[in-house]
Amino acid sequence: MIGVIENFYANPSGSHGPGIKAKRIVSIARAEIASALDCYEKEIIFTSGGTESDNMAIIGAALANSDRGRHIVTSSFEHHAVLNSCKALEKMGFRVTYVSPNSQGFITKESIEKAIRPDTILVSVMHANNEIGTILPVYDIAESLKAKGILFHTDAVCTFGKLKISMKELKADFLSASSHKINGPKGTGFLYVRRGAEIAPIINGGSQENNLRAGTENVPGIVGFGGAVAARKGKEDLNTEKVSGLRNLLLEGIMKEIPDVKVNGSLENRMAGNLNVAFKGVVGTSLLILLDGKGICASTGASCNQAKQEPSHVLKAIGLSDEEAASSIRFSLSEYNSEEEVRYVVDALKDGVSYLRNIRS
Ligand SMILES: *Cc1c(COP(=O)(O)O)cnc(C)c1O
Repeated sequence: MIGVIENFYANPSGSHGPGIKAKRIVSIARAEIASALDCYEKEIIFTSGGTESDNMAIIGAALANSDRGRHIVTSSFEHHAVLNSCKALEKMGFRVTYVSPNSQGFITKESIEKAIRPDTILVSVMHANNEIGTILPVYDIAESLKAKGILFHTDAVCTFGKLKISMKELKADFLSASSHKINGPKGTGFLYVRRGAEIAPIINGGSQENNLRAGTENVPGIVGFGGAVAARKGKEDLNTEKVSGLRNLLLEGIMKEIPDVKVNGSLENRMAGNLNVAFKGVVGTSLLILLDGKGICASTGASCNQAKQEPSHVLKAIGLSDEEAASSIRFSLSEYNSEEEVRYVVDALKDGVSYLRNIRS
């Protein structure tokens, strides 16, 4: 990316030599991503990240298809980029049905089908949940909706680059992804838009990105994203195996050393790097401060909502009480973590939880 800033600083829309050079490295990154997803290069629309991609898919598809109906179906434990895009549409007169997950953190194809009405134009269900890691049956949901002629968007920010996804098998019309969730730079993402799927731009201006997302491209960000994708290509299963080993080590350590803990969400069908645990009688945010003091970065809920201090809508949606939700911590592991780090975290948790429980009682 530093090389891009130094040597490819021209505007990729410029028709001069340096502009053409910049345009070429954007198209190399696009080809890398299209190849990872088994799709056409033209179907990849670069955006400023997962949030913009979700907004574009939901608001853009709703606006472009409102003549066919004004009803949308989503789940109640989506990321706020999806939920608040739906809320924005409700203010514009659209109707939204929020389908609840079960206590294990899953949404079934049948529960989505039940929510469909004659005026449903769009369904949005995430590929994996960002707080509890559960993987949802989006392949089945997409297949079912295709047969009904209803557009389908999936927020794949937690899975793209971590699970192999082929758009030949996943019949979604729109798919959101973000660069910084796979070790790429922040502020870059894309929306996959299937050829022929009707969508209106939400950012208006020039003709960049196939007329769907105006604005001069973030060339260093896009190239960094392409590099992050290339670095993971073909290694999805390898990473998953290593990361789930570390996750299981963390879980076993917690279970062995700390009483009264509960895992939130199913451990089956779950992203390898996610562990979300409730520590009974502990205030999660206090535990986070103790962990931070030891150099351990964990989270309650989604980091985007840290400022709000409200109990996680995801944990509430799978049936936790306010108190249980507030006592929960989310750990995210990657292939760059080690067993030594996991053991260090277990020790820190053991001390932190017993300290907080003692001062309370
Ligand atoms: C992080 C995340 C987003 C937002 O992506 P940004 O690139 O940070 O805007 C959207 N959806 C899910 C599921 C996420 O985990």
